[in-house]
Amino acid sequence: MSLLYEGKAKRVFNTDKDGILRIEYKDEVTAGNGAKKDKMLGKGRLNNLITSKIFGILRQKGVESHFVEQISETEQLVKAVEIFPLEVVVRNVAAGSICKRLGFEKGHEFKEPLLELFYKKDELNDPLITDDHVSLLNIASSEELSNIKKEALKVNKVLSEIMDDMNLILVDYKIEFGITSDGEILLADEISPDTCRIWDKETKENFDKDVYREDTGSLIDTYETFYKKLEEL
Ligand code: 5GP
Repeated sequence: MSLLYEGKAKRVFNTDKDGILRIEYKDEVTAGNGAKKDKMLGKGRLNNLITSKIFGILRQKGVESHFVEQISETEQLVKAVEIFPLEVVVRNVAAGSICKRLGFEKGHEFKEPLLELFYKKDELNDPLITDDHVSLLNIASSEELSNIKKEALKVNKVLSEIMDDMNLILVDYKIEFGITSDGEILLADEISPDTCRIWDKETKENFDKDVYREDTGSLIDTYETFYKKLEEL
């Protein structure tokens, strides 16, 4: 079936079923908007298995997504959606860009989850934007945006509980949303150690892509350990 889209970490294909697409997770890892890039055998498998498992748990807990089913170690079927060019970031603990931007100390715990919106545009380096920018750029209507924010915070609740059960802390994450041809807004893309910051509760050791971004360990070993913990749930 024909290739519809190829991104940094995934390929999206048409299927013979109406409204259903096939996603293939690639063995590639990038950081800093592609500035750092490597091939990593087994990464596609791990992110597919992890995302499939997490979307499955979210569904059981009442959060719908585009996920339909995992069909192989590296592939899943999803509902076709048009992705909003929006990266929705939710933070429970300060790390990464918010420390550089606003001077928070790494590890500072926010009293309430903090939601930030970034414009998904590689040429502009995904800038932080406001609700008014979302409207001005015609990214989403105010009703759609409020729906997206509500869902993003629901994801935070469920995902934080999953991590807590694994003795981990959900520091922050980035999610994306799409809209079906029927106008249903759905959580889309992936949820994996590529898109989240996850720390060990006691040691604060990273179980996420920061090990690659900061060159502090093996990405595959880290993701494999995370997957095993998730499997034990
Ligand atoms: P930060 O804004 O601190 O760089 O990222 C916040 C969170 O969102 C982190 O968990 C990070 O992994 C995720 N994130 C932000 N932008 C991207 C992106 O373009 N790709 C991926 N995979 N994750 C992102």
